[in-house]
Amino acid sequence: MLELRPNCECCDQDLPADTGLAYICSFECTFCADCSEHYLQLICPNCGGELLRRPHRPTSKLAANPASIKRVFNPALKAALARGARAAALPLGQRLPTSTSTLMVLDLLR
Ligand SMILES: [Zn+2]
Ligand SMILES: [Zn+2]
Repeated sequence: MLELRPNCECCDQDLPADTGLAYICSFECTFCADCSEHYLQLICPNCGGELLRRPHRPTSKLAANPASIKRVFNPALKAALARGARAAALPLGQRLPTSTSTLMVLDLLR
């Protein structure tokens, strides 16, 4: 079952589980539509995988199957991307598995 994280990892915007406005990678790194489309070009900055639209969970199912309440937020990510870094421009070999700290990826973006 998907975690359905409650916010964008990049800008900390709330992403309610019963709306269709979030993008996720296969590890469930979670981003809002604005960050995904404009900053990330639909490439996950943590693992290099594609970001796809996260399916919403119907409100009626959330009581018995609640979404995650653990916020994952990395303010340095948006700062790096706003400076013009592009996750999609990283060579594949430099992309790190999602278990590695995002901050290490940011070192590569600088
Ligand atoms: Zn965002
Ligand atoms: Zn990822």
